[in-house]
Amino acid sequence: MDLPKTPTFRLDGRRALAVGASSGIGAAAAVALAEAGAHVVLVARSADKLTSVAEELVRRGCSAEPMALDVTDIEATERWVASSGPFDVLVNSAGLARHGPALDTKPEDFDAVFGVNVRSAYFLTRAVARGLIEHGRAGSLINISSQMAHVGGVDRAVYAATKHAVEGFTKSMAIEWGQHGIRVNTICPTFIRTPLTEQTFSNPERARWLAEKIKLGRIGTVEDIMAGVVYLASDASAMVTGTALRIDGGWTAD
Ligand code: NAD
Repeated sequence: MDLPKTPTFRLDGRRALAVGASSGIGAAAAVALAEAGAHVVLVARSADKLTSVAEELVRRGCSAEPMALDVTDIEATERWVASSGPFDVLVNSAGLARHGPALDTKPEDFDAVFGVNVRSAYFLTRAVARGLIEHGRAGSLINISSQMAHVGGVDRAVYAATKHAVEGFTKSMAIEWGQHGIRVNTICPTFIRTPLTEQTFSNPERARWLAEKIKLGRIGTVEDIMAGVVYLASDASAMVTGTALRIDGGWTAD
């Protein structure tokens, strides 16, 4: 009797680009992709920490290399992706947060957060897709969005707006590029313990908010995100595009 075969979660032979890979969720994504067999190019602004992550991966028998690049420089990023690609997988975890009351938002903070979370993410995703289309290759492009792409949050009008925007371009790109076999999705984490969130956890009022909203009763860890990265990057998710994988401990369930 023929039984169905479980699709593979392996990424052997794939080239992956992990952006924001010097820290937090991006570094964890790079580890997950490399351990699943991909060759991973790790990108962040400064080389130091990035190089340590890449070197540690190589010591563990994985295939990885660092590349210092500021993705807010759209032209430089497009040039570099065009000359170094094609990349079968993109995980973009570069992100910025400047939380504060909506009544106090400064235009320069609005622009900076939109600049990294939306503008850079948009053109980076497009650059990787262009490379794939030119080479006639399929691929999986993943932006690290947020649970705040689906709900609002106190002090988070700008941040939540950027993540809602990411969902919008993700769906539209998925519609346009499905014909090329390019899948585009997001991962929407709840609060994860990283350098980005330390400030929130040290505020007792915010800590109470988190404890009430996360139904599973704990703050997330970067490990909680890793399996989702491998799933969306691999052929295990071959029919999944234009959607959001919420890893939010139930935050958005009510
Ligand atoms: P982090 O600060 O630990 O890491 C951010 C990474 O992005 C760093 O490697 C940094 O160097 C890189 N980066 C920032 N600007 C860049 C630029 N211009 N060019 C290249 N690299 C740049 O943050 P994190 O907590 O790991 O967050 C990663 C992503 O996950 C962000 O998009 C964030 O919005 C999202 N997110 C985080 C949480 C959380 O609770 N930590 C929850 C939901 C979503």
